Amino acid sequence: MPAYAVIGAQWGDEGKGKVVDYLAGKAHCVARYAGGNNAGHTVVNEDGEFTLHLVPSGILRPQVTPVIGNGVVVDPDVLLGELKGLSDRGVDVHRLAVSDRAHVVMPYHVRLDSLEEKARGSKAIGTTGTGIGPAYMDKASRIGVRVGDLLDPEYLRGRLDPVIDFKNALMTKVYGADPIPADEVLEKCFAWGNDLKPYVRQTELVVQDSLARGEGVLLEGAQGTLLDLDHGTYPYVTSSNPSIGGACTGLGLSPREITGVTGVFKAYSTRVGGGPLTAEMEEDTAGLLREKAWEYGVTTGRARRIGWFDAVAGRYSATLNGFTSLVLTRLDVLDGFPSIKVCVGYDLDGQAVDRFPTSLATLEKCRPIYEEMPGWDGQTASATDMSQLPPEATAYVNRIEELIGCPIHLVSTGPRRWETIVKKPVL
Ligand code: GDP
Repeated sequence: MPAYAVIGAQWGDEGKGKVVDYLAGKAHCVARYAGGNNAGHTVVNEDGEFTLHLVPSGILRPQVTPVIGNGVVVDPDVLLGELKGLSDRGVDVHRLAVSDRAHVVMPYHVRLDSLEEKARGSKAIGTTGTGIGPAYMDKASRIGVRVGDLLDPEYLRGRLDPVIDFKNALMTKVYGADPIPADEVLEKCFAWGNDLKPYVRQTELVVQDSLARGEGVLLEGAQGTLLDLDHGTYPYVTSSNPSIGGACTGLGLSPREITGVTGVFKAYSTRVGGGPLTAEMEEDTAGLLREKAWEYGVTTGRARRIGWFDAVAGRYSATLNGFTSLVLTRLDVLDGFPSIKVCVGYDLDGQAVDRFPTSLATLEKCRPIYEEMPGWDGQTASATDMSQLPPEATAYVNRIEELIGCPIHLVSTGPRRWETIVKKPVL
């Protein structure tokens, strides 16, 4: 098993945490390549429930070297807090490698994130307010701070002084907010440098060396393909590339090393914040599902919007990422629904469309074309074999496979590791 990517195929929150944790049993290295602590993965294993925002889910497997790659933006307070929480629960965190080239989420990024979102008023993107977008903006503007810079106080001071002046001018003159004292920011950075030093590595070498030894490397995606900065429903997107290209740039990895790409789909759709969700359910049904499945954000606690499975968006995601296998999660959530809709096409001004439109204006005009399938009386919850599924649930799984055009290898029937049906081994 060389490099194998696990990618959110919808709008995030598909259950990648569980899938990565499950597959990490066979890996030596689990590398996160994009996003920041705006992501949230929940892993349930024999030691209880773990919620992770920055640390790769692979940390819960003792043989794994977890890596935070250069494509991730790191809020050191969040990372150090998460490491302490894990360490307090007996997890060995010293294996973690953090890229010296990952960008740092600075205190002014967090402040500006909220100020900018507030200024957008009714056009708010629905950011998590954690400073991720502003940190990626500074990376692209070449005024960002990298984790490696935190280890060099002199260099950092020279680099940061003009940046802090500029950020303070922005905060006070544009947004009418208070400035952040430069000394406070610098002190914080020096303290972060000390605390993070043991973890900082040239992580592309960690990944490349692991591959050279013939070990298995899992590439852990965050968020989902339809939130991709380039390929998602812009501007309602995240500030990084959760799709497969992000794995190469975000880790310093050749695409030739990637031998498998698995797409993680929920058995229905959810989305946090604004932006199109063509197959959105009526609120009555959505409300039932939201409460049953506790569809609230791990990071923000916000209620997720709920939709039926959207095969048009799903096929787009599959083609973009080149999925070689699929994982279908949360099938158990649909237990007890009398009938289940699947969005098989879009109606655009009376024309049937089966390709995902790239313009927001077009997408907003699309109406779902549904196929209705019978629900099931029995339960899929905790099933570990396809033979345990009611026939209607099997038909639903088969139909999704057919509509996406890629084989489903795993079906997840509950949050715990063992609540998994292996139709075909993924790795
Ligand atoms: P991620 O961001 O893609 O990792 O997804 P999250 O971790 O935010 O959300 C997934 C949630 O669903 C977590 O609470 C998981 O424990 C839970 N989960 C994962 N797979 C299943 C499943 O098959 N059934 C149910 N009921 N919950 C699941």
